[in-house]
Amino acid sequence: MKSNDVINLLEQLAPKRYACDWDNVGLLVGRRDKEVKKIMIALDASLSVIEQAAANKADMLITHHPMIFSAIKKVDYDDITGKKIAKLIANDITYVAAHTNMDAAVMADIAAKKMELIDARPLDVTYTEKMYKLAVYVPVESADLVRSTMLNDGAGFYGNYSHCSYNIAGKGTYMPLEGTNPYKGTVNKFEVTDEIKIETLVSDSNKNRIIRHMLEVHPYEEVAYDLYEISDSGYDIGVGKIGRIKEPVELIECVNIVKAQFGINNLRLVGDPDKKVRFIAICPGAGKSVVKNAIKMGADVLVTGDIDHHTALDAYEDGLCIIDAGHFCTEHFIVDYLKNHLLRCFYKDDLDNKDIEVISAKEESPFIFL
Ligand SMILES: [Zn+2]
Repeated sequence: MKSNDVINLLEQLAPKRYACDWDNVGLLVGRRDKEVKKIMIALDASLSVIEQAAANKADMLITHHPMIFSAIKKVDYDDITGKKIAKLIANDITYVAAHTNMDAAVMADIAAKKMELIDARPLDVTYTEKMYKLAVYVPVESADLVRSTMLNDGAGFYGNYSHCSYNIAGKGTYMPLEGTNPYKGTVNKFEVTDEIKIETLVSDSNKNRIIRHMLEVHPYEEVAYDLYEISDSGYDIGVGKIGRIKEPVELIECVNIVKAQFGINNLRLVGDPDKKVRFIAICPGAGKSVVKNAIKMGADVLVTGDIDHHTALDAYEDGLCIIDAGHFCTEHFIVDYLKNHLLRCFYKDDLDNKDIEVISAKEESPFIFL
């Protein structure tokens, strides 16, 4: 497998179009044709992480935070960025970042699930995914297989429901012409057959994959299917989530949930610990930019990191409690998630890739509590 194949897998998980405009994601240093046997995953491309990648002979390094954010005018090996770039190049490590695209595609969802949020929606929309209706005509006996192939591949998501489809029985007609090898029927003979029309919903990013897999299991030589854009609907994708929990809890209870779910011992709290909260916003990492949205969308509390004094003060006076659980601790779970995701991709479809190793770097927050 080449590094470009791994980049494509990342693109399927967290498409670049989901990223914020100011972000810098994708291949940042290195080459796309590197043969990959070992991949290291980390939150940050710190010097320590790059040294670990080199010592472990990793062919690729994937981090959440991009090491290079804005344009650089020189690569001086005496400064920290230059040193890191030099080390990556000297060790022929292909370096890739998946940042706000990962936030939008994966991070916010997992964080919302950790907090058991109901009806969660994005705090800050970065992309609206076009949705399509896919209708496919299948002989009755193959309907279950074709339907389950599509639904298990991600088709049929409506709000909080998955595996949605509509199935109508009908008659299909056709005449196989010379040179065909029909699944049913005879060449040059008009055929009427029992079929099911299966309708489901696919997104812009998964439609090609789902259609490809549907065609693989459909028994017909020429598969009839329709794909049409649903003009008045789209699926909002973005940074952070807001939703409600089953029953209101005291803010201090919410603190305990955050500590348990994110494995945190110490955090900072803005707000009265006895206050009842129900609508919870969560934005792993730095959440200053979503404070106003959280207030506008009716959050009682925002769980995030990197909140400064003035932002905390304004939020408090605007009625928003804040649980600042730290940037590192609210995001680090993504490293394990990505590692497991890549391993699942490598092992599922191609056993030849079993020799690809995925490891996570040893990292700690730069802050210590005294
Ligand atoms: Zn972050």
